[in-house]
Amino acid sequence: MNDAVITKISGPLVVASGMKQANMFDVVRVSELGLLGEIIEMHGDKASIQVYEETSGLKTGEKVVSTYEPLSVELGPGLIGNIFDGIQRPLTEIMKVAGNNLTRGINVPALDRERQWVFEPNVEIGERVYGGDVIGYVQETDVVRHKIMLSPKLGGIIKEITGGTCTAEDVVAIVIDEKGVEHGVGITQKWPVRVPRPYKKKLSPDRPLVTGQRVVDSLFPIAKGGVAAIPGPFGSGKTVTQHQLAKWADADIVVYIGCGERGNEMTDVLNEFPELIDPHTGKSLMERTVLIANTSDMPVAAREASIYTGITIAEYFRDMGYNVALMADSTSRWAEALREMSGRLEEMPGEEGYPAYLGSRLAQFYERAGRVISLGRDGREGSLSVIGAVSPAGGDISEPVSQATLRIVKVFWGLDSALAYKRHFPAINWLTSYSLYANSLGKWFNENINEEWTSLRGKIISLLSDEAQLEEMVKLVGMDALSWGDRLKMEAARSIREDFLHQLAFHEVDTYTSASKQYMMMKLVTEYYEKSKEALDKGMDIETIVKLPVREKIGRFKYVKEEDTEKDFGEIINMLTEELSLEGGEADA
Ligand code: ADP
Repeated sequence: MNDAVITKISGPLVVASGMKQANMFDVVRVSELGLLGEIIEMHGDKASIQVYEETSGLKTGEKVVSTYEPLSVELGPGLIGNIFDGIQRPLTEIMKVAGNNLTRGINVPALDRERQWVFEPNVEIGERVYGGDVIGYVQETDVVRHKIMLSPKLGGIIKEITGGTCTAEDVVAIVIDEKGVEHGVGITQKWPVRVPRPYKKKLSPDRPLVTGQRVVDSLFPIAKGGVAAIPGPFGSGKTVTQHQLAKWADADIVVYIGCGERGNEMTDVLNEFPELIDPHTGKSLMERTVLIANTSDMPVAAREASIYTGITIAEYFRDMGYNVALMADSTSRWAEALREMSGRLEEMPGEEGYPAYLGSRLAQFYERAGRVISLGRDGREGSLSVIGAVSPAGGDISEPVSQATLRIVKVFWGLDSALAYKRHFPAINWLTSYSLYANSLGKWFNENINEEWTSLRGKIISLLSDEAQLEEMVKLVGMDALSWGDRLKMEAARSIREDFLHQLAFHEVDTYTSASKQYMMMKLVTEYYEKSKEALDKGMDIETIVKLPVREKIGRFKYVKEEDTEKDFGEIINMLTEELSLEGGEADA
């Protein structure tokens, strides 16, 4: 097997002959430098290898050695708070060993081998255990209690189990399987990244991932275990939106995959994320976050792997029974990597040079999202929600990656540069965005927040779309030509936009709105419309309605602290009724 040699080098693609024994997706070491690669195509004894490190200087005739193992990640305590590259090398550790420039072929284990953890067993000697069972716990950070799960492939009787201090390499338990074979079990496990982790049962995505962002929760909600896409034209607020979701969504764990092409983009994330404060705990957001970052000096192939590395880590935390939110920024960069490799493999190009399998690869990735009952006896329920950013050149979503993504995802938050330019934030366009979860989640909101939820949402959406049509008319004939009823609609829609949808990420109260406060806000803006309409029909003047003092109150309601909302809400509803009552007016007439 040592006669496998390089026969061709084309950027990140290396072809080697003499590889008969190797299999598709085996990890290989290329040349004396031991560069890490993965077999992505086999023809007879020729293997095409995607190399995850810079290949310059390689020569034909240099050796290639297969490890006969698929590309895998190491799962266990030490993931949280860490920053990994696309093939799970710990970036901070590497920088300690090798300085700022990644040395090629460097071999640093993903999880720190020295770090001490305290293992607290959850099962007893003699107990029968099954794949996925929680055999113990490690308090990983102040926020995350890491559940040590038996590998999905293992089961049997616990022969030994020891609590106390241990490292990633120690055996903490011995399991005897049904054949009588003893297996040493540690606090870490390995999993091949291209294989979805198994679970017992998939559940329907009918609970919301509450984000505290009004346009998201009220109009275009995402389910726990749901999939969403967000396009990111430059300056439209993609970063702020993603930070808001990472901070406020009711997820226990956040996995952020950054496959930026420009080095500084990634450095921004690396600098910004650790500085974000988790509003729920007051500690760094990193205490419940895993970052996957592709630095600019890594070849494109590593970007391709990063998506899989990230989602496998996310699935692992889902299996513990946690709600995980994964953000991939951006899947366009990942697709470009796919395109580049496909080109080098001389495959038949599809649309715009992307391979014909672009759509199915994207689908395979998004399909790994979901709300599930995990393996193991205790029936833990976890979810993995995936939010993928797409960054089409020039913001034109007719290109293949955006189109393929839109066919898969159930939620689309259409960030719009025109709105951002007008400083309407979050710049999510209410006319182009959608959520296919709106009905099933509406049921949840109706049952858990207020039974009027979906009907209020319907009223708001219809006023906003009426406004869009009326605006066209105003452009042609001017505001004065509108009927009073239509003018009122325009006013109500303006109030919806300004008093409800507009939400400042940097305001201490406005940054997050609970679902029940969102209900009150929807009620206020729609009550204004309906009560005014009645008054208008009874003869009240439109100018009076537009200038009602209560409007100021409605506008400021977003800044009312959560604990005062109940009281203020009641007062505003009363004010509204009073100011719109015609008693005073009728007496005069
Ligand atoms: P992108 O990542 O799309 O290039 P950013 O997320 O950096 O854009 O947003 C650009 C600017 O827009 C931010 O610096 C901020 O001033 C403003 N902005 C975006 N979203 C919000 C928001 N929700 N609240 C307040 N300001 C925002």
